[in-house]
Amino acid sequence: MKHSLSLFLLFFIVQFTFAQNTNQETTQRIDTYLDSIRNDEAKLRQFLTKLPKGADIHHHYSGSVYAETYLEYVEKNNLWINRNTFAISDSEVSRSERSEWSRVNSLKADGYWSDIKIKIIESWSKLYFNYVSKPNDEHFFSTFDKFSIPENATFNEGIREIKQRAISENVSYIETMFTSTGFYNTFEKDEDFATELLKLQETKDKSIQSKLAELYKYYTAVENKIFLSKVNDHNELIQTLHTENKIDDDKFMMRYQNYFIRVLDPATTFKSFLISFHSAHTSDLVVGVNIVAPENNTVAMRDYWLHMQMFKYFKSVYPNVKTAMHAGELTLGLVKPEDLTFHINDAVLVAGAERIGHGVDIAYEKNSEELLKYMTQNEIAIEISFSSNDFILGVSGNRHPILLYKSYNVPIVISTDDAGVLRTDLTQQFLILIRDYPSINYQDIKKMVFNSINYSFLTESEKEKIRKDLEGRFLEFEVGFLEQH
Ligand SMILES: [Zn+2]
Repeated sequence: MKHSLSLFLLFFIVQFTFAQNTNQETTQRIDTYLDSIRNDEAKLRQFLTKLPKGADIHHHYSGSVYAETYLEYVEKNNLWINRNTFAISDSEVSRSERSEWSRVNSLKADGYWSDIKIKIIESWSKLYFNYVSKPNDEHFFSTFDKFSIPENATFNEGIREIKQRAISENVSYIETMFTSTGFYNTFEKDEDFATELLKLQETKDKSIQSKLAELYKYYTAVENKIFLSKVNDHNELIQTLHTENKIDDDKFMMRYQNYFIRVLDPATTFKSFLISFHSAHTSDLVVGVNIVAPENNTVAMRDYWLHMQMFKYFKSVYPNVKTAMHAGELTLGLVKPEDLTFHINDAVLVAGAERIGHGVDIAYEKNSEELLKYMTQNEIAIEISFSSNDFILGVSGNRHPILLYKSYNVPIVISTDDAGVLRTDLTQQFLILIRDYPSINYQDIKKMVFNSINYSFLTESEKEKIRKDLEGRFLEFEVGFLEQH
């Protein structure tokens, strides 16, 4: 008995060692190949298309759908187009305005449509942007309003497009920021509340948390019906889109994050927090909450402290709701140097963010060494989107802090941000990673891919299921590689 047990153990050890060696050998061969193609984008693309990429967890729904999809709707519904500004209208344009506006069909009849179509794509995305006519960050953030009419009418097409692209890029999971509702109803106490919150902000008064509790009580007691109907409409829309388009299957999953914008008055922002957190708390498909819009906006800058206090408050009311926060999407020159010192700090230490979006200003943050160590110890992941940082902030190559995060072992995930507006995809983000950072090897890439699942807001059992599937995908990828090289 003893003899057969030790034989069994020996067999197991030999098998294990063999597998380890094979793994190491495969990794080495892939690394050698990667080093030989770092400057060959076509070969990198070919290699990376097949690479299993895990999840894209910093992903904005409306900015991920390509302009062409929105334009199909505009064309099919023969909407009005402003021939000078390329704005869209779905309501009848008055006779007096028709010197500037035409319907798609009349543009087609006059032979202008194909040229105007390109102009519309340019105004809705990065395509052919010349960096001269207006600031690039302003252009980027202005695109979202411009395509809001087709966006709100094409959720089915959009969600299917995103899934199809993910499958063709070997992506298993997307966590997309999606909103269908703002909370812009006004209530009697809004203005008083806004004034009181701004006053408390002036001195960073400690009573802020009890003031926020008072607001919560008011909006949920007095205005509960309106508030709950907003939450229900939003959750039902997501549920319907998700189910009717059969988004989840054996090979793919999608979940949603609610978000609100940081450029509105404090009372409206509070109500947006309330809807977003309550919706995430009550929906199985909404797994987290995020805050978006330019951090250098005047209101965003003025109210940063208030927004972080609101996160702190709502996380205490809804402790099960996860939060990812855009923070530190700033760079030197865009704001005063002093304004680069506290965004990631406060998102992590005050607001309790589980993940940080962009975090580009990390080297400028106060006590950045301690902050980076804290992120590592508390497993707060950093979401890196190269194309976005390059276009919006002009930060790329050795000006980008990815290697700083890596040197502190902060969990890194690679994501797209807004693939449609930025005219890119997830494969391209991995391409930039390998092309621009020669120290990144295959093991690093694999780690980042698994991080995207491990630091997603899925449940533990869902993560486990995707991880298992991902291991299978990597095995297939590596076997395929060895056969070719
Ligand atoms: Zn983003």
